Amino acid sequence: MKFSVMADQFDVVVIGGGPGGYNCAIRAGQLGLKAACIDQRSTFGGTCLNVGCIPSKTLLHASELYEDTKTKFPKMGIVTQGVAVDLAAMMAHKNKVVGELTKGVEFLFKKNKVEGIVGAATISAPGKVSVATKEGLRELSAKHIVIATGSDVAPLPGITIDEKTIVSSTGALALSEVPGRLLVVGAGVIGLEMGSVWRRLGSEVKVVEFLDRIVPGVDAEVAKHFQRLLERQGMSFTLSSKVVGVEKKGGELIVAIEPASGGKPQFVNADVMLVATGRRPYTDGLGLDQADVTRDKQGRIVTDGDFRTSVDTIWAIGDVREGAMLAHKAEDEAVAVAEIIAGRAGHVNYDAIASVIYTYPEVATVGKTEEEVKKAGIAYRVGKFPFAANARAKSNLTTEGFVKIIADAKTDRVLGVHMIGPDVGNMIGEASLALEFSAASEDIARTSHAHPTLAEAIRQAAMGVTGWTMQM
Ligand SMILES: Cc1cc2nc3c(=O)[nH]c(=O)nc-3n(C[C@H](O)[C@H](O)[C@H](O)COP(=O)(O)OP(=O)(O)OC[C@H]3O[C@@H](n4cnc5c(N)ncnc54)[C@H](O)[C@@H]3O)c2cc1C
Repeated sequence: MKFSVMADQFDVVVIGGGPGGYNCAIRAGQLGLKAACIDQRSTFGGTCLNVGCIPSKTLLHASELYEDTKTKFPKMGIVTQGVAVDLAAMMAHKNKVVGELTKGVEFLFKKNKVEGIVGAATISAPGKVSVATKEGLRELSAKHIVIATGSDVAPLPGITIDEKTIVSSTGALALSEVPGRLLVVGAGVIGLEMGSVWRRLGSEVKVVEFLDRIVPGVDAEVAKHFQRLLERQGMSFTLSSKVVGVEKKGGELIVAIEPASGGKPQFVNADVMLVATGRRPYTDGLGLDQADVTRDKQGRIVTDGDFRTSVDTIWAIGDVREGAMLAHKAEDEAVAVAEIIAGRAGHVNYDAIASVIYTYPEVATVGKTEEEVKKAGIAYRVGKFPFAANARAKSNLTTEGFVKIIADAKTDRVLGVHMIGPDVGNMIGEASLALEFSAASEDIARTSHAHPTLAEAIRQAAMGVTGWTMQM
């Protein structure tokens, strides 16, 4: 005789426990929905907490402090004889931070009555999810399924990543020795952040980029300035070029680099090569075809403006659908979709989603770039202010960079804020709020900013939009 096992019943089953998935499950729990969140990793938090935002920022901060001991401390009268890096201890610190934060997600699940399930999930049909757990197969039934399976490293044709000498960001976050020579393929956010970590710890870093500029998507004036500052720190760039092959010989890598438009290759020797050419949506083993969920040519799950896929009760958020691959974009979509499922009006304002590069100096931008505003034919004004004229930056010896504010020439509405400078990642929230509230540059210029703070540079730049910057 066959017994049929009753499937566990949920209002919402979220597949993927990254910033998209875990925030969606938590918000669903807060709204009184019975929610489960599944991840095939043994710890929740997804790419972001396990092998992305958090470990990279931990190493960026630690390596920046180390570099400060050589560059800034002597100028400030701090004697730093004997300062050295204990890489194993630095990695242990990073792992501890990751461990505590991923455990924190489990705590939040308990607090919001979300069931966290570890296992690989497959959608067997709309409303049905099978999870391969350590204890065996578990069948769940769900009124709604939210796909938040994120993204994975995009492979580079002809290159095999071994995570030892040819690494992705995941391997670059866990090297056991400082490589003598690091070749970074791709001058995007991840390549430049990880390149900065290892350069500060002692590597010679060369970056190869297919395009004729670094950090595509960032305001061109900011990107140019950024490249100059990174070069001054010792990073070198080969632009308009592509890596076409790599050979391992005598304990080193021989990397073949061709001009982007084709031609004779040059060969560069390296100890480690970091492939940072992008990420692709991850949907392996999810059963999308059997559930009739449509993907686009890039493999992203297609959704409408409310995150609904081609199947009415299946939704998708985060890196697996279109848009910037950012943790806080996934989080915003998570909140919106949980609220829509609960019958509320969820909404994401993509114009106010900031983007940050956590190097030194940092780059932080929100809204339209000058190139985009020009292309759209909008009459605009620009206000700028350099950190060299900001009192706090001067005291801190962090005078590199500037704030640039773009506002509509007719209405004065702020269209974009682009910053390169000290701690601008922590300051961009003010600009996001300005865009969210449709602020005019005058609103920022007339808002009190505490003195002496780095944020005063934003106020001075806002004054500059209408020509009354006072402190320069
Ligand atoms: C090195 C690095 C640094 C980064 N730094 C930043 C940063 O500073 N700021 C920022 O905003 N963004 C950063 N990002 C990007 C950020 O990590 C992603 O945008 C974010 O994690 C996307 O969230 P998500 O929930 O969509 O997917 P993910 O975080 O990728 O989570 C998806 C989860 O789904 C699980 N999964 C997939 N398929 C299944 C399945 N079938 N069954 C069960 N589980 C499944 C995966 O195991 C994964 O844990 C960084 C990324 C990297 C790689």
